[in-house]
Amino acid sequence: MIVITQSSINEERIQEIVSHIERAGVQAHVSRGIGRTVIGIIGKAEPALAEHLRQMKGVENVIKISKSYKLASRDFHPDDTIIDIKGVKIGGSNLVIMGGPCAVETPEQIDEIARLVKAAGGQVLRGGAFKPRTGPYSFQGVGVEGLEMMADAGRRHGLLTITEVMTPEYVDICAEHADILQVGTRNMQNFDLLRKLGTIRTPVLLKRGFSSTYDEFLNAAEYILAGGNPNVMLCERGIRTFETYTRNTLDLSAIPVLQGLSHLPVISDPSHGTGRRELVEPMAKASVAAGANGLIIEMHTDPDNSMTGDGVQSLFPDQFARLLKDLEKLAPIVGKNFDTSKAEAEQFAVWQK
Ligand code: PEP
Ligand code: MN
Repeated sequence: MIVITQSSINEERIQEIVSHIERAGVQAHVSRGIGRTVIGIIGKAEPALAEHLRQMKGVENVIKISKSYKLASRDFHPDDTIIDIKGVKIGGSNLVIMGGPCAVETPEQIDEIARLVKAAGGQVLRGGAFKPRTGPYSFQGVGVEGLEMMADAGRRHGLLTITEVMTPEYVDICAEHADILQVGTRNMQNFDLLRKLGTIRTPVLLKRGFSSTYDEFLNAAEYILAGGNPNVMLCERGIRTFETYTRNTLDLSAIPVLQGLSHLPVISDPSHGTGRRELVEPMAKASVAAGANGLIIEMHTDPDNSMTGDGVQSLFPDQFARLLKDLEKLAPIVGKNFDTSKAEAEQFAVWQK
């Protein structure tokens, strides 16, 4: 159930409504939007509560949300969520580009790739220090040292950083080093991990499970939001279908569908979504045309010798730079802001702090 307030409501009245809800033994989540405030009621409320709330001063309407997820739903939060990380805004009309290797390998490797991501106009450096590998004998990532290498490279080149966290125990250390935490496709329903991510405020990029429905995906996001962390972005990274030519099938319709159902930013991953280098560029452009708020793209200076199998889907640095130039032309046509020259000047002072 949600309470929609009148636009003229003051803070005191909002607090009265919240107290009334809490006295009924359920939780209230206040979301202040442009023009109106929405108060979400979490928990099983007595039917009489809706009637009481309707009578209260400042209340415009009380609506029952039948979806199992509530905080993630657009009914609860009609405006787009915009996550501001050190001045980089993710969501709304901003296009954010995250680029980098599948895995952090050495300080030199991640530093050089960071330089190239920045020079091309990207805002976020990606790289896994802990890798979720299908086989136990495959390279599992360089671990905590990788977090340090990436944080150094990000700081040096004025980029935000994103890295994958796989277990609740590693959330704090990953959050100490990275600006955004990635939950991989295999962990979308690792509920202990999601609950732990709800207890911090570090933004989370939640990847869609490769066999998950939109409903399951949004319920996974709801775990993080319900814990109190409002900074969640959704990532479409391809789903498993009967087709084997591509590694996954990038579900482009997920982008407008999720943006309709939810207020959270939607990021597309054309690298894992296709598994083939030659398809990354067209699918990146198609994602932006479909309304994606950002892209996460694998790029490597020596893809053939990358330490994970993802070299085959990694762009070469010149391809990455060309793609970003093309996106700069495409972005305004679809109502997005993206300026490759802005990245150079952007927020250096903030990062150096
Ligand atoms: C990755 O980003 O390198 C990764 C392992 O992604 P996914 O969880 O989508 O497979
Ligand atoms: Mn990868």
